[in-house]
Amino acid sequence: MNKSVHLVLLGAGHAHIYLLKHLIRMASLAQTPKLKISLVSPHAKTYYSGMVPGLVAGLYEFEECAIDISKLIHNSPIQWYDCHATGIDVNTKKVFLENGECLTFDLLSIDTGAGLDASQLDRILPGASQHCVLLRPLENLANNWASIEKKLNSPSTTSLISSPHHPVKKPVSVIGGGAAGFEIACSLAYRFPNTQVSLIAGAQGLGPSYNALVSQAMQQQAKQLGIQIVNQKVQEVQANQLILSKPTNPQHPTLLPSEMSWLAIGSMAPNWLKQSGLQLDEKGFVAVNEFQQSVSHAWVFAAGDVASRTDKTYPRSGVYAVRAGPALARNIVLYSTQQNLLPHVLPATTLNLLACGRRYAIASYGTYSFKGAWVWYLKNYIDKKFMKKYKV
Ligand SMILES: Cc1cc2nc3c(=O)[nH]c(=O)nc-3n(C[C@H](O)[C@H](O)[C@H](O)COP(=O)(O)OP(=O)(O)OC[C@H]3O[C@@H](n4cnc5c(N)ncnc54)[C@H](O)[C@@H]3O)c2cc1C
Repeated sequence: MNKSVHLVLLGAGHAHIYLLKHLIRMASLAQTPKLKISLVSPHAKTYYSGMVPGLVAGLYEFEECAIDISKLIHNSPIQWYDCHATGIDVNTKKVFLENGECLTFDLLSIDTGAGLDASQLDRILPGASQHCVLLRPLENLANNWASIEKKLNSPSTTSLISSPHHPVKKPVSVIGGGAAGFEIACSLAYRFPNTQVSLIAGAQGLGPSYNALVSQAMQQQAKQLGIQIVNQKVQEVQANQLILSKPTNPQHPTLLPSEMSWLAIGSMAPNWLKQSGLQLDEKGFVAVNEFQQSVSHAWVFAAGDVASRTDKTYPRSGVYAVRAGPALARNIVLYSTQQNLLPHVLPATTLNLLACGRRYAIASYGTYSFKGAWVWYLKNYIDKKFMKKYKV
């Protein structure tokens, strides 16, 4: 490849921020292969998911959890398009942007995370896109935080017996009993004692993907914070209530008051990938090999929640997205200089640290579990160390 290669990066997700920094460092050392680099990212700042529960709990300020992409790439040869990509055609090597522009690429890397498209979402859970606080993209949560906080601090509007002298707790719910749902429920219960938080964990219960020790520790923490665990399925989200059904009795729904409903039900593949021409997995995520390279188009790479390795199953998590960063950077440089790619060996197990609202956390590592204030301080140390790498 003698002529300059146009590398387009879609999204500034956890893997791409490493790639960006790597490319900027190479450019400053005049080591970059002949690359023209464009970044498509709708947000100037991207938020580190590991610290978001701490942000909701009031333990961190926004700036501590934000990576300023505009500052990171300032004075670098990277051209930034501050909008969403709305589609790709990998065969004609084009990316379509929401501002109407079209970029032609030689090499494409996708790290746009998992989406929560409104039409897809409402098919799974009617009313969710209109009435829920969505955790993805995290940038929207950050942008709407002031009004969310105001609403959480205000008295209940639905309880008829609530009065200034006899306030009734504001009913709030979090839908999803996985790590994100648990952490957000704990953060809300800790930060806003005027709320009654319900965590709708479905039939599977709390932390179904963790070992029994971790699930028990999650139950204990939820109990201590006064969180009500509801082992039912949400049928529909309405403005001030959830319609629930018991797995054993789906024909007879019950109502749960909820003046604010948060959605933490895991990830969905972005809709716009369907027309891309890329080979996708059965859930619609980009199918990649051990080099984080598309199995159908060698000039396309993908990492993070939007990608799905065909050689191994692993959970969609920030830890895996972060770990993919160095491998992605290495293979993109190797590909653009026509060298052999190197496999990204996925870790067999990872350390997961669950924040419990206050300065207390639960650790999960394979079949092991630890908990305590020291686990939170360990998490805080790891998260801040990560953020320090990207502070400009
Ligand atoms: C509250 C919460 C807490 C979590 N805590 C943890 C944790 O402690 N540990 C852990 O391992 N995981 C955690 N996760 C999961 C973690 O957030 C994700 O797995 C991780 O963010 C995935 O990273 P990513 O690189 O795939 O993309 P993301 O971090 O989602 O970033 C994708 C970026 O691409 C942008 N984008 C989206 N669409 C487009 C488009 N069309 N064009 C251009 N740009 C686009 C987005 O706006 C975003 O900036 C948590 C998730 C939540 C919601």
